[in-house]
Amino acid sequence: MKEKKAKKDFCPHGFPDCPILGEIRDLRDACARLSHQVETDGLTGLYNYRHFLKALETEMERSRRLGLPTSLIMIDIDHFKAVNDTYGHEAGNRVLQHVGSIWRTHTRKIDIACRYGGEEFVIILPTTRLYRAVNTAQRLRKTLEEKELPLADGTSISITASFGVDACDPKENCTEEEFVDRVDRFLMQAKSEGRNRVCHRGSHGKTLTTELSREEREALFASKPGD
Ligand code: GH3
Ligand code: MG
Ligand code: MG
Repeated sequence: MKEKKAKKDFCPHGFPDCPILGEIRDLRDACARLSHQVETDGLTGLYNYRHFLKALETEMERSRRLGLPTSLIMIDIDHFKAVNDTYGHEAGNRVLQHVGSIWRTHTRKIDIACRYGGEEFVIILPTTRLYRAVNTAQRLRKTLEEKELPLADGTSISITASFGVDACDPKENCTEEEFVDRVDRFLMQAKSEGRNRVCHRGSHGKTLTTELSREEREALFASKPGD
């Protein structure tokens, strides 16, 4: 009867001999592990697509409240199918882990790096203006190009990726879907212009350079799209 009451009350503070204390701790740990798994990609350890959708909504809401833009980088590994075909699927998986670790270690703590699916990644840069996001993408592109993945036989795999970048200003009032679509179009532009490059507003003659502030224009045009 007494034990039943203890369980019913979930052993409040001041009950060190609680018979279900261990059980409660195990359940709490299991909940923490599960909620981590639900939002993490099992292969790369980055956030997964589910978390990306939630985080983008949160960051765009933060943008609206603070009046600061959110930036987004979309990345697609170049000719990844050829990596699988040449070195095998396991090596392909190691390439994905290698790439994921570069995104994680070469971005800020507040940036949200996610595996979008397959060999595609997306990084949310909260409260970040376009030119800073472009600089980040250019740094990531260079790092990936320079850091070959060593193989057991002493050879190595060199990898490149294409990048699309854009920023959404809260005044634009764009939806998450429209924003992702815009960035995806810059990524497609990077593919069609030859891969291993960063494309964004202002990276191409036909794009809307007038929408950029003077500060952004100066920062962006100091570097070429493939830099
Ligand atoms: P592009 O430069 O145009 O992006 O060419 P690509 O070869 O990278 O693109 P494509 O869409 O033709 O091929 C993507 C490949 O990625 C095909 C698929 O088998 C492989 N892939 C997707 N997910 C995984 C994964 O988890 N592990 C491995 N090893 N391969 C994967
Ligand atoms: Mg792809
Ligand atoms: Mg690809």
